[in-house]
Amino acid sequence: MKQETYETLDYDIIVIGAGGSGLRAAVAASEGSGLKVAVITKSLLGKAHTVMAEGGVAASFGNLDAPDGWETHFYDTMRSGHFINNYRMVEIFAKEAPDRVLELESWGAVFDRTPEGRIMQRPFGAHTFRRLCHIGDHTGLELIRTMQYKAIHTGIDVFQEVTMTKLLISHGRVAGAFGYFRADGRFVLFRARAVVLATGGWGKVYKVTSNSWESTGDGAALAFRAGADLMDMEMVQFHPTGMVWPPGVRGILVTEGVRGEGGLLYNSEGERFMQRYDPERMELSSRDVVARSIFKEVQAGRGTPHGGAWLDISHKGPEYVKMKLPGMYEQFLTLADLDITKERFEVAPTCHYTMGGLRVEPETCATNIPGLFAAGEVACGLHGANRLGGNSLSDLLVFGRRAGMGAREYVAGGVALAEVDEAEIGQEMERVLAPFEREGGVNPYHIHERLQEIMTNHAGIMRSGEILEQGLQKVLELKEEARNMSIQGSRTYNPGWHAVFDVENMLLLSEGIIRSALERKESRGAHWRTDFPDELPEWQKINFVERYDGEAIRIRTEPVKEMPEYLAKLFTYGKAPGLVKQSEKKEA
Ligand SMILES: Cc1cc2nc3c(=O)[nH]c(=O)nc-3n(C[C@H](O)[C@H](O)[C@H](O)COP(=O)(O)OP(=O)(O)OC[C@H]3O[C@@H](n4cnc5c(N)ncnc54)[C@H](O)[C@@H]3O)c2cc1C
Repeated sequence: MKQETYETLDYDIIVIGAGGSGLRAAVAASEGSGLKVAVITKSLLGKAHTVMAEGGVAASFGNLDAPDGWETHFYDTMRSGHFINNYRMVEIFAKEAPDRVLELESWGAVFDRTPEGRIMQRPFGAHTFRRLCHIGDHTGLELIRTMQYKAIHTGIDVFQEVTMTKLLISHGRVAGAFGYFRADGRFVLFRARAVVLATGGWGKVYKVTSNSWESTGDGAALAFRAGADLMDMEMVQFHPTGMVWPPGVRGILVTEGVRGEGGLLYNSEGERFMQRYDPERMELSSRDVVARSIFKEVQAGRGTPHGGAWLDISHKGPEYVKMKLPGMYEQFLTLADLDITKERFEVAPTCHYTMGGLRVEPETCATNIPGLFAAGEVACGLHGANRLGGNSLSDLLVFGRRAGMGAREYVAGGVALAEVDEAEIGQEMERVLAPFEREGGVNPYHIHERLQEIMTNHAGIMRSGEILEQGLQKVLELKEEARNMSIQGSRTYNPGWHAVFDVENMLLLSEGIIRSALERKESRGAHWRTDFPDELPEWQKINFVERYDGEAIRIRTEPVKEMPEYLAKLFTYGKAPGLVKQSEKKEA
């Protein structure tokens, strides 16, 4: 192999990821700090997965339902997370979300409005009140548009189409990250005093998914290899309503906004089957419940022709549907030749969100590696066993900001740039180029396809010990096979080459998902085990934490932190705080 070279760039803080959390972190790290900050993305600025977000951003303004407040948002989020959330993260989140949304508005985001001129809020599954601030059904796009404009004006540098393949650690703290330019394969070393990971989730490990091509879990895998802790990896959200037909669009999201705006679910017998599973909340039950309900209906032989349920919003009339759900109207018309203002359509569960991820401190988003921070979907703790719709976008704003501030404070502590080990860089360049050297090896796309098949069949919506064990064996065998991935062509715009690293990351995280799923011997939120169908109180006290030593994944339990009295008492009435009358409070 010829002598390889690399460019070295020095920064105070690098943010890996240009989605909502990355951009918010960059603003916090850069604005008024005088620090040199870079944002690095493997796609383009403005193209991150976050742009796909549709339904809205949850914040308890109470613009339409006055009794809403942070306490009720806290209550809903803890309940939906089945109480394995980090209560402190939820508290910070529920209290700060409204300020972050207003701040976004002050930076130029144009929200839909009530007739009185307040931010419009729509209902969403398992939110007690109308809480989702939205811009039609393209909220993520507006969020990114606003934030990238804000971020670049704080003076950050942006590196697009750069894939980071390794986090560098020196004397126990983060020293930077190494990667390559996707356009021509040039290597680049970013030395940094602090690193914020904002690389999103890993929904691409499943066959049917709403996620973009970016969601391969790179940041989580890089940090895991570097010694960071992953938590609650068994918790993967399957959104109840993905498109089903035609086959080419299977998995594309049908926003919960459709049910929020009055869409109704039916089985093949014309029955509103949610009556059977959650008669109180019906279509607006939490995602785990609705997804499982559709799955059960199909299993019971009451599914639609292509294995899903019917969703119908046509009774709302064309004007309303086109105004409230313009993206959905277009999506079905263009992709399925179907007019949702006139016809019902088929939906089925699709992998949507990864609740597990890097374990972080609630106040600063610090991981267990000094100088390494994480926010957004790559981090863990806020959503517990099931994420509420709309809570991700506010998560990005609240904890993106906190991660940026955390990194900034860490750097202000006087930490210097760490020396990077030349030999380690040499080894990494060799590793990254190795697939070109192997001849007749396996194709990374084939490995990815098989991984998706395994994960869907063995660690999907329905699990059991036996199915998971089989899945684990298959993933371990596939991992062995993947050591021999090879590719052809040059380093110039070579998607097969990029796929090698995506696949390596997804294989590691898939093993993490299954190992954690095997340990949790109960059903809780998104984690449904047919051999342990009940939610058991003793498991509510436990999070599973994983660490990787380069050879094997070690798993341990950690106690879920107990809520202090002032938060625990929010649950004493058995209903949301905003629904408790003054008289009831006095009696208690
Ligand atoms: C269709 C759809 C609709 C949704 N609707 C909503 C909604 O209405 N409300 C809500 O709250 N949530 C919604 N979500 C969820 C929400 O959009 C995501 O959870 C959120 O956008 C994740 O943001 P993030 O900042 O963590 O990462 P992302 O937006 O996923 O960004 C990740 C960034 O990291 C970069 N990156 C990744 N790996 C590397 C690497 N190796 N090197 C360099 N860069 C890298 C990527 O290029 C990208 O810039 C939706 C999700 C989907 C799929």
